[in-house]
Amino acid sequence: LLPLTLALLSLLPERPINHPLILILLAVVVVQSWLIAGIGSARLSISDGGVIANISELLTSPDLGRLVFLIAGAFIALAYAARHSTFEGSLLWVTAASALALLAWNGPHAASLAFAAAQLVLLLGLVEDSYRLAYHDELTSLPGRRALEEALRTLDGNYTIAMVDVDHFKRFNDRHGHAAGDQALRMIAAELQKVGGGGRAYRYGGEEFTIVFPGITPSAASEHLESVCTAIADRRFAIRSSSRPRKKPDPPRKTSRPPKLISVTVSIGYAGPSARAGNSNAVLRAADRALYRAKNKGRNRVVRYGARTA
Ligand code: GH3
Ligand code: MG
Ligand code: MG
Repeated sequence: LLPLTLALLSLLPERPINHPLILILLAVVVVQSWLIAGIGSARLSISDGGVIANISELLTSPDLGRLVFLIAGAFIALAYAARHSTFEGSLLWVTAASALALLAWNGPHAASLAFAAAQLVLLLGLVEDSYRLAYHDELTSLPGRRALEEALRTLDGNYTIAMVDVDHFKRFNDRHGHAAGDQALRMIAAELQKVGGGGRAYRYGGEEFTIVFPGITPSAASEHLESVCTAIADRRFAIRSSSRPRKKPDPPRKTSRPPKLISVTVSIGYAGPSARAGNSNAVLRAADRALYRAKNKGRNRVVRYGARTA
């Protein structure tokens, strides 16, 4: 029953903890324990070798156990291959550890050890999942706000912080749709990740990003920011229409127009530590003010905090 329950768990899509499916699963687990207790006492009270004894013999035979573990293991492996989530990965290890505990190991504490290992694996999977949720942005694959806050805490000496904001993004969404907007954010994130000078890009939130350059001055970071701004503005991309058929229509229509190519621009403000802005949070706010100036000066440009307006 244990491998079957594990296989059932791998079928669960990501759902809130109070979803009815989770409650059903809990009920299944409770009924199982009750059943096992029943089988145990039935075995004790039967000594005649009758039908019930044979059934209970079959149900508790190691051969059946091995077979069920094998099938459940293969099932979970398939689920892992399809989804590649940490959760199915942990389930696979838990199934292996449980098989060891119940079928293979025969030391005095072997089963307890294997089950303890299984629990540890589940716990590690949980930690990894919550880390990913807190520090990683799903849409752009960039590290998120929490990761940025950690990075800000470790900054010292020379460094530069840049704030990046997509230009007229509300209009972009209205014109091309939210899905195209998401696609644009992914493209921008990919460009920001390529920034030179040791800069690391984060998704600050919404259509705003932050680049942190540890160990270099704003003057040194400037050229890298200019090139990333130009690279984004120069990049043309085709919007994938949500109504586009998944399969290629055959025969291909000659009249179909080539996909429309569009582009977006970003504005960037940046700053380094100074007498006025000492800690990294103040430097980030200074970069944000420079960004505001970049917007006012016409967008699609890079502005340094405190630089004189041309
Ligand atoms: P500005 O040039 O002054 O920055 O103008 P803007 O339109 O970019 O600024 P505004 O703050 O008015 O609008 C930001 C828009 O970004 C509104 C919101 O719908 C959009 N947005 C934020 N996050 C996402 C996202 O994850 N996906 C998509 N598609 N749009 C997003
Ligand atoms: Mg904004
Ligand atoms: Mg914007």
